[in-house]
Amino acid sequence: MPILRVNNLKTAYKTRLGEYIRAVDGVSMRLEEGMQVGIAGESGCGKSTLALSMMGFFFPPLTYISGEVIYEGRNIMELPYETLRHEILGKIIAYVPQAAMNALSPTLRVSQFIYDIMRAHDRNVTKKQVVDLLHERFALLGLPERAINAYPNELSGGMKQRVVIAASTILNPHILIADEPTSALDVTSQKQVIQMMQRMLKMGIVKSIVYITHELPLLRQITTHIMVMYAGVIVEQGTQEEMIFDPIHPYTRALMGSIIVPEEGIRSRRIAGIPGVPPHLGKEIIGCRFKDRCAYAGTLCTRCEGVERDIGNGRRYRCDLEESALRVVYSNE
Ligand code: ADP
Ligand code: MG
Repeated sequence: MPILRVNNLKTAYKTRLGEYIRAVDGVSMRLEEGMQVGIAGESGCGKSTLALSMMGFFFPPLTYISGEVIYEGRNIMELPYETLRHEILGKIIAYVPQAAMNALSPTLRVSQFIYDIMRAHDRNVTKKQVVDLLHERFALLGLPERAINAYPNELSGGMKQRVVIAASTILNPHILIADEPTSALDVTSQKQVIQMMQRMLKMGIVKSIVYITHELPLLRQITTHIMVMYAGVIVEQGTQEEMIFDPIHPYTRALMGSIIVPEEGIRSRRIAGIPGVPPHLGKEIIGCRFKDRCAYAGTLCTRCEGVERDIGNGRRYRCDLEESALRVVYSNE
């Protein structure tokens, strides 16, 4: 049974000029218990927007267009904001945005900051309840007690990040979405952040984690499944093994090809080496979104976008070429 299903979700930023930046342009996916999903793709492909959209978190200029996000039989997209705020955000889905650790207020102790946030959700919560909860949770996650009453400048970047993640999940949400959770951290802090999140999954504090990252070694270490996003759509999704070692879509292949050296395992730290840039999302794209950068694009690809092909067990890719044809081309290289 999936925890969450996303069906053909479309959302866009409506600019002041009336232009729609179609950052999420028909995404379907499902999250199941125990899944650790990595969402990969170059900058600007819509990863953060997908995270916000999945939670129904629409603030101008981000606008909902169509599609569903189903949680326990309810379409989250139809809920009024107040219901979302009280029943979904932080309780069902917690989102830790990019550079979240910098969101801690420099003038407030961690406990006060978290209390203020929790009070915004629940008027009746007391400071003591929050502090007690924090003590319990920090002990469980191996975070030092002193962090609870510290000011942010007394904590390292890695510690701040762990504190923010621990605080965001204090209500045991089913899903944790962590947006670039380890970027800008040193290697040791990265490990600690990751270990803590995995512990949260093991202990049942959360049931599923979505990691947004373009750090590919991270995808190898921590995911069970990978989705590759390109220009507002998921071009391929499958298990980690399939996606890294047996990619079907040319874009996935290009991404993964840049990191795999069979003897050394995963080499480079970031996605690199695909010439060109993703298309502008403000204009309608005719044909395949990846055609201009694809070594295998033919005339059909300039005319219509490939349908999303389901090849079973949750493995899907979006390309006009048949898997078998792509495999033949790849094997001849
Ligand atoms: P990613 O997280 O993959 O780097 P984003 O979701 O941040 O990508 O952005 C997807 C697209 O939406 C990009 O083209 C970006 O320029 C655009 N975008 C993001 N935020 C806004 C905004 N506030 N207004 C207009 N366009 C935006
Ligand atoms: Mg982003």
